[in-house]
Amino acid sequence: MYLIEIYKSIQGESSFAGRPCIFVRLAGCNLRCAWCDSEYTFTGGYRRNDQEIVAEIEKLAPVKLVEFTGGEPLLQERELVPLMERLLNQGYELMIETSGERPLGRVPRAVHKIVDVKCPGSGEAGSFRLENLACLTDRDEVKFVIANRGDYEFARDFLREHRLESCVAEVLLSPAFSKTPAPQRTTDNALLDPRELVEWMLADALPARLSLQIHKYVWEPQKKGV
Ligand code: SF4
Repeated sequence: MYLIEIYKSIQGESSFAGRPCIFVRLAGCNLRCAWCDSEYTFTGGYRRNDQEIVAEIEKLAPVKLVEFTGGEPLLQERELVPLMERLLNQGYELMIETSGERPLGRVPRAVHKIVDVKCPGSGEAGSFRLENLACLTDRDEVKFVIANRGDYEFARDFLREHRLESCVAEVLLSPAFSKTPAPQRTTDNALLDPRELVEWMLADALPARLSLQIHKYVWEPQKKGV
């Protein structure tokens, strides 16, 4: 499997936000989102086998929450699924962050899937594979990264059309973040003011949760490996 990094931090997003977490960041992505903050994953990476990855995770004990992220981790599904099964058997709690462009059917049900459905402002709208809706359970969360009113309306309409709140644990709306943020840890670095987003959510009584990327407020926004 090709990796970019393994590190320990706090989980910055989703309903797990704030919990200590080990991040396994895999190399490669098949999308090119306009506001991507992980372009360093697109090329390169170092090869590690299952055994070596488990050993690196164990060095970061006693944290037992592990997130697979990228890039797009499911591009390496053939090797990733057996690794996830092995870690589940060892008592780890697992998350995967994915765009939902790849099939989700082989991801073990016990893994919490955080599915980032792309909105028009990303330039990758339509990449989500609609058949994946049938694979989502009440362990999973669907996230929309919102850069503007058009993205919000896309997310709102998608949520309503597919009644997402009844099939997943959380629907998350997260303001998009600047690719070139100032060093200050403020919401000025968001492309959309979170307050504006909240006002839209309240006006529509949307059954969703505001999600801020809290690691970008705990540390300087451009800091990697946190
Ligand atoms: S899917 Fe994620 S890693 Fe890939 S381009 Fe989009 S934001 Fe970046």
